[in-house]
Amino acid sequence: MTSNSEYYMFGPHKIHKNFIFYATNLSYVMVNLRPVRPGHVLVIPKRMVKRFVDLKGEEVCDLWLTAQLIGAKLELFHNASSLTLNLQDGPKAGQTVPHVHIHVIPRKACDFKRNDDIYDAMNENDRELSKQHIDMEEERKDRGFEEMKEEAHHYTKLFF
Ligand code: AMP
Repeated sequence: MTSNSEYYMFGPHKIHKNFIFYATNLSYVMVNLRPVRPGHVLVIPKRMVKRFVDLKGEEVCDLWLTAQLIGAKLELFHNASSLTLNLQDGPKAGQTVPHVHIHVIPRKACDFKRNDDIYDAMNENDRELSKQHIDMEEERKDRGFEEMKEEAHHYTKLFF
């Protein structure tokens, strides 16, 4: 198990439980440090596994069923009309955090100039996050604790 009473692990990152708004026995869902669009969240297996192939069948089922449920709820909540579900499996596919995760992103008409610009936006975010520890002078673009906590709190209420 990769969690204790206060945190879940997301690769090397400790994720405070205030940022997690849904969990099953095998998966959890958290708000994003840098969402590319409102409602961009991550669905993550509780067991810390780097690659999709390393998940057990029951974890794969649970992860995608959870993504399906979360996508439906957040699409409605954000008045969106489509979803991008994206799993970058391995560093050469764009994965920057070595722990399997599905990006769930509500989509609207014209939310990006070109539809696939969303992938550039995700990669740009990752590039900045990865050099952040080197360039500490750079303006901080990450969201604060309170903003993320409040977003997670709103989403929690979707499951009552
Ligand atoms: P990927 O590039 O597919 O590995 O996606 C990594 C995702 O994790 C990006 O959407 C980041 O914004 C997000 N992320 C990285 N670190 C954290 C963190 N500490 N808390 C929440 N989200 C994070």
